Amino acid sequence: MNPEKKPTMDAPAAPAPFDVESVRREFPLLHDTMRGRPLVYLDNAATTQKPQAVIEAIDHYYRHENANVHRGVYQLSESATEKYEAVRDRVKAFINARSRNEVIFTRGTTEAINLVASSFGSTFGQEDEILISAMEHHSNIVPWQLLAQRTGATLRVVPISEHGELLTDDFHSLLCERTRLVALAHVSNALGTINPIAELIAAARDCGARVLIDGAQAVAHTRVDVQQLGCDFYAFSGHKMFGPTGIGVLYGREQLLDAMPPYQGGGEMIQRVTFEKTDYAELPHKFEAGTPHIAGTVGLGAALDFLARFDFEAIEHHEQRLLARATALAADFPGLRIIGTARHKAAVLSFLLADIHAHDLSTLLDHEGIAVRAGHHCAMPVMDFFRVPATVRASFALYNTEAEVDHLFDALRKVKQLWN
Ligand code: PMP
Repeated sequence: MNPEKKPTMDAPAAPAPFDVESVRREFPLLHDTMRGRPLVYLDNAATTQKPQAVIEAIDHYYRHENANVHRGVYQLSESATEKYEAVRDRVKAFINARSRNEVIFTRGTTEAINLVASSFGSTFGQEDEILISAMEHHSNIVPWQLLAQRTGATLRVVPISEHGELLTDDFHSLLCERTRLVALAHVSNALGTINPIAELIAAARDCGARVLIDGAQAVAHTRVDVQQLGCDFYAFSGHKMFGPTGIGVLYGREQLLDAMPPYQGGGEMIQRVTFEKTDYAELPHKFEAGTPHIAGTVGLGAALDFLARFDFEAIEHHEQRLLARATALAADFPGLRIIGTARHKAAVLSFLLADIHAHDLSTLLDHEGIAVRAGHHCAMPVMDFFRVPATVRASFALYNTEAEVDHLFDALRKVKQLWN
């Protein structure tokens, strides 16, 4: 969006229709009330609600299928193992990995990034550079800072524009033969910016660097094909894509994962242990020490099945309509300042209203049954760049409606009147 140009409510051309009301029926919590009002859940960038199928899959697992995996030779354990490993195949298909060995289960995006920093980063030295951007989530900053402190490597940061877009010229000039790794968000959680990652990945790889993409805000909203993108690592969390908390994925190129040392030691990740020496398990188990989050993985499988029923183009179209409506209403709202006006944005609207603190605004919206996030969104450097302590963030998912967008702005109008 160009802020010079007033946004309109014009919707982009339509793909297959998307029946939002029938989707909403699958999410029990969306029918709850908050403070006596129907819940309007607009904090999907923090976590999404869960469909009935995910809740039931976890319930069924604990009632009828619970056993530890990869260990027992009795039927219950064998079928739990099969179920767990079948989800790996579903993830492989979902992101179009070449092999199931490239799918490592983690606790989420944060752990996936820490795994790469700790294991892939273990050979970094003083001459190496790590390139990130100024719009990263703390999860894609702090692990690299820790790595730089440990190894003497240098952390470099690509700046962003006043619109919240990555400055690609600076990216190209900062990229050099010393760059060992580029780590970038696919979509910014604080601003909604969609980065042109395919182009950036190609440039980084041409320069001999490896690339990690933080896909936490992308996977529930757009089709991700890791082969087409050409990235070396791609990290995401189950809970932001209608699955449970505590489960996520690290995709890594097999050849890289194979050469990397283990992340954590323990059971499951070994072939043979003596006090003198340990032989590690093959991929993917080398990176999955200890009893994994089996029920979470089963829930993630159900979330993937849920998502597989939709055409991603239809999801994107629906969410872009919501964003267009919210952006147009925001542009006409006196005293409202949008933070993050990139041309390519996911359905995230970060904003401030007059001199009302983001936390006060969020509390007042809560009284109207509206759940939005207020704070720095784990992206303090972004707040510093825009010289604000915090923003209010409304973030949309496939089950949100235009009526909910209107409700948000009706509530903002009410708050503004009360505040004046
Ligand atoms: N990166 C981005 C862009 C995020 O939005 C988040 C979650 N807010 C994370 C990383 C961390 O995800 P998790 O807490 O699920 O590990």
